Amino acid sequence: MYTTLKEVTDRAEKLNYTVGAFNTHNLEMLPDMIRAAKEKGAPIIIQTSVDTAKYIGHENLVAVCKSMATKEMVDVVLHLDHARDFDDIKEAIDKGYTSVMFDGSHLPFKENILKTSAVVEYAHRFGVSVEGELGTIGGTEEGIHVDDNDKVYTDPKDAIEFVKATGIDALAIAIGTNHGQYKSKTEVNIPLLRKINAVVDVPLVIHGGTGVKETDIPELINNGIRKFNVGTELLVAWTKTAKETFGDTELNKSLRHNVIPCNQAVKEIVKSKIDIFMNKKDTTFKKEQTISV
Ligand SMILES: [Zn+2]
Repeated sequence: MYTTLKEVTDRAEKLNYTVGAFNTHNLEMLPDMIRAAKEKGAPIIIQTSVDTAKYIGHENLVAVCKSMATKEMVDVVLHLDHARDFDDIKEAIDKGYTSVMFDGSHLPFKENILKTSAVVEYAHRFGVSVEGELGTIGGTEEGIHVDDNDKVYTDPKDAIEFVKATGIDALAIAIGTNHGQYKSKTEVNIPLLRKINAVVDVPLVIHGGTGVKETDIPELINNGIRKFNVGTELLVAWTKTAKETFGDTELNKSLRHNVIPCNQAVKEIVKSKIDIFMNKKDTTFKKEQTISV
């Protein structure tokens, strides 16, 4: 069914897995992303930036996600990623998104609380989930660049106050990941994640998931990561395949011959990520309760 972030992360918390949140970059790749989830019997979060939503059209994205959720019988969440402007959030909610992220991480702490609270107040009226962010994730996303020197890890004490004061449904944390990283892998600060997870009772979100080592993922899941963002890897795979297929195509050849392999490349990545995210090897982990901040 077409559902919310809160619904899918609540279930993931009970069964100790994480839900893949995959950025769609165009309308072409979207159906195969949802089919990948269907084949794996997993829920999926489809997310778009504000600019991608405007490029494709919010209503078109909502229509595809809704119809495929029903037809394919798969849980699909449509989430707005990294919105900084209340009007963009309002537009997505009014047009049928089921989840939004307000990114106030660049604001002073109190202002982040105030603005995130206003988003929660509006979104919850319509049953829409809200993700907030504390700390700064490195790298570049949608033209906004954060230098390594400006990266600020999430402070567990701030996280307690932020979650309590805002009423958010999920919290994006900064524990060393970077947006756009795909050639190398990052060192994730797992001890910090443990501390945050021990004191905060909302699902936690990892951004810049492409740069996370596969071997770290079970540890992240076991410590409360319930939404795992992957964007760059899909973008790179689609573009790489497109360069090959379009490179020497005949001008009058049907476009689908060039585009289907691109979508397939994305589908295979989504499927392999979901295999890792479902965390089937370890479902007995108990949340660490003894760590002090
Ligand atoms: Zn992000």
